Amino acid sequence: MIPVSEPDIGEEEISYVVDCLRTGMISGSGGEYIQKFEDMFSSYCGRRFGITTTSGTTALHLAIAALGIGKGDEVIMPPLTNMATAFAIVYTGATPVLVDSEPETWNMDVTKIEEKVTGRSRAILPVHIYGHPCDMDPILDIASGHGLSVVEDAAEAHGATYKGIKAGGIGDIGCFSFYANKIITTGEGGMVVTDDSDVADRARDLRNLAYSKERRFLHESVGFNYRMTNLQAAIGVAQMARIDDVVARRRRLAALYNSRLREVGGIVLPPEKPWAESVYWMYAILIGDEFGMNRDELMSALRERGIDTRTFFIPANQQPALREMALFAGEECPVADDLSRRGLYLPTSSKLTDEQVSFVCDTIEELAAS
Ligand SMILES: *Cc1c(COP(=O)(O)O)cnc(C)c1O
Repeated sequence: MIPVSEPDIGEEEISYVVDCLRTGMISGSGGEYIQKFEDMFSSYCGRRFGITTTSGTTALHLAIAALGIGKGDEVIMPPLTNMATAFAIVYTGATPVLVDSEPETWNMDVTKIEEKVTGRSRAILPVHIYGHPCDMDPILDIASGHGLSVVEDAAEAHGATYKGIKAGGIGDIGCFSFYANKIITTGEGGMVVTDDSDVADRARDLRNLAYSKERRFLHESVGFNYRMTNLQAAIGVAQMARIDDVVARRRRLAALYNSRLREVGGIVLPPEKPWAESVYWMYAILIGDEFGMNRDELMSALRERGIDTRTFFIPANQQPALREMALFAGEECPVADDLSRRGLYLPTSSKLTDEQVSFVCDTIEELAAS
C-alpha cells in the first residue's frame, strides 16, 4: 500500500535523541535542544520568539490564552480545518464564529469576514489549509480596523509563503504542529511564534504551569503543562537541517501530479495563487461530476489497487460536538460543505518516489476511462 503520508526521519534525528538519553536531558525543563529548536524554527519563520509546545492543538490554545481571550469573546475562523482549531478556542471559554471557505483556495473567504465582526470579536484565526496560505492582507486590514489580533493556524504550512513572507510570520502569532504527518515532525509537538515579547512571555509562563517568578510553587494564574520534551526538540533540530529539501521535494511532487492529472476530466487540481507558494501538506484534489465516479467510489477503487487516500476534513458547522453547544445556530457554510463532499488527498510525503506518483496517476487515468 502506498501510504497517504509517511514521516521522513534520518540518522541525525536518531543520534540527537540518543544524545538526550545518554545525558539524561529528557524532560521539557532545560535541555539544549529545546532552545535550539525554538531559535531555529522561529528565525526560519522570520520571528523573534518561538515557544515549543506538546502539539499544534496546545500551541493554538496557548496562543489564544496568551492574548487573554476567554469567556464572552469571539474568535473568527474557517469551517474547513482540523477541529483542533475550534477546540482550542472552546477550551478558553471563547466562542468560535465561522466564515465560510471560498472555492478557489479553499481558505476562509476574506470578503465575508467583516460581516461577522461584532463588539465581542477579539481575534481572526485564519488556517492555511493543506499548505496554501490565506490571502492575509485583507485579513490584516480588517483586524487593524477593528482592533483584533490575528492568530495564524499554520499547522499545515511550514515554509509556505504569502507575497514572499513565511506562513506563521504574518499575523500577530503563528501556530505550528509537528505531528508525524506534518511538513516537519517531532512525533508530537507544536510551536507558537511571535514578535511580541509580552505575548511570548505570557505564553512561556502559561506553558509551564504559570509558576510565580518570585516564589516557586506559588501560582497567580491557572497554567498548563504544555512543555515539549528535549527528546522531541532533538528530532526537530535534526529536521530543520532538511526543511528546505523537504519543501522543495513536496513542491516537485505537486508539479508532477499536476502535469499528469491536468489531462483528466472532472478533477480540480490544488490551488496555487500567483501571490502564494504552497507546501502541499497534502496533495488535495476535488472530484467533479464529469469524472464518472464520485469521491468515495474513487477512494475505494484506489484502495483496492494499493493506494491510500483521505477525505477532506468535515467542516466545523457539521460537528456534533460543536453543534451541541448551540454554536453556529443557523450558520450555513455551503462552500465548505461542498469541498468536504468532493475533496480527497493523494499520497504526499517527501519520501514518495516519482515512480509512485506515476503509478497513482496511471491508476486514476485508468479509472477515469473505465
Ligand atoms: C494538525 C493540525 C492541528 C493540530 O495539530 P496537532 O499537533 O495534531 O495537535 C491544528 N490545525 C490544523 C490546521 C492541523 O492540520
